Amino acid sequence: MSLKGKTALVTGSTSGIGLGIAQSLAKAGADLILNGFGDASKVIAELQQFGGKVGHHPADVSDPAQIADMIHYAEREFGGIDILVNNAGIQHVSSVEEFPVERWDSIIAINLSSVFHSTRLTLPGMRKRGWGRIVNIASVHGLVGSVGKAAYVAAKHGVIGLTKVVGLETATSNITCNAICPGWVLTPLVQKQIDQRISQGIDPYQAQHDLLAEKQPSLEFVTPPQLGELVLFLCSEAGSQVRGAAWNVDGGWLAQ
Ligand code: NAD
Repeated sequence: MSLKGKTALVTGSTSGIGLGIAQSLAKAGADLILNGFGDASKVIAELQQFGGKVGHHPADVSDPAQIADMIHYAEREFGGIDILVNNAGIQHVSSVEEFPVERWDSIIAINLSSVFHSTRLTLPGMRKRGWGRIVNIASVHGLVGSVGKAAYVAAKHGVIGLTKVVGLETATSNITCNAICPGWVLTPLVQKQIDQRISQGIDPYQAQHDLLAEKQPSLEFVTPPQLGELVLFLCSEAGSQVRGAAWNVDGGWLAQ
């Protein structure tokens, strides 16, 4: 499948899942707007090898004004966004009683409200051009809960609700909106949770094995390229009637 001539914005694409998705889209020929913290120059150079135009906008997606600035940049420099992947996200693990209020606020802002802002600002351009794909990287935690993850689980359930509404509001157009719900993927976000176990004296191999064994029956991590391939499918003609779905890729987590 070729995405030549399409522009994709992937939030939080300087590492982890977002980077994997950006690589798949660039390989398929899309022009790419990267976003996320840290030095993006190495990633830009890597993706330019696939022949498309590659840019980076450093918006902090917890701030609606910076999201608006990023969408304006996309319109000015790339002629608009055809594929929007809302991927940026953070985690904090703590019981509800001890959950720091400012961590709750930033998780809701980054993991949920940013999806609303980038969607509402991108949709008018997609409608004008008559085609669009919105893919929200939710989580199995958008469908089930886990202890210690109040803000994350609340935000990801919200993302799935928002996905359904946008899927319905675009149902008679060539624009689709869907959510992908990964299980464990070995990225910096999950490594921090493994490190938390290691800091309690558990050996690194055992810490990784225990994390998987508690939830993911395959005992294997989902990989960013596997998620990238699913995004490509959702961008294809074959995926054009998948609307408002929450598609889990979770090694069997939700089959239990
Ligand atoms: P990661 O920590 O590797 O990457 C997060 C990315 O988001 C980075 O590029 C970071 O710079 C960016 N980011 C963080 N805060 C930001 C902000 N305020 N503004 C702009 N960019 C910001 O994490 P990951 O594991 O790749 O997670 C990506 C998404 O996938 C998240 O939404 C996460 O909830 C979801 N997810 C991850 C897993 C997993 O097991 N890793 C499972 C299910 C869902």
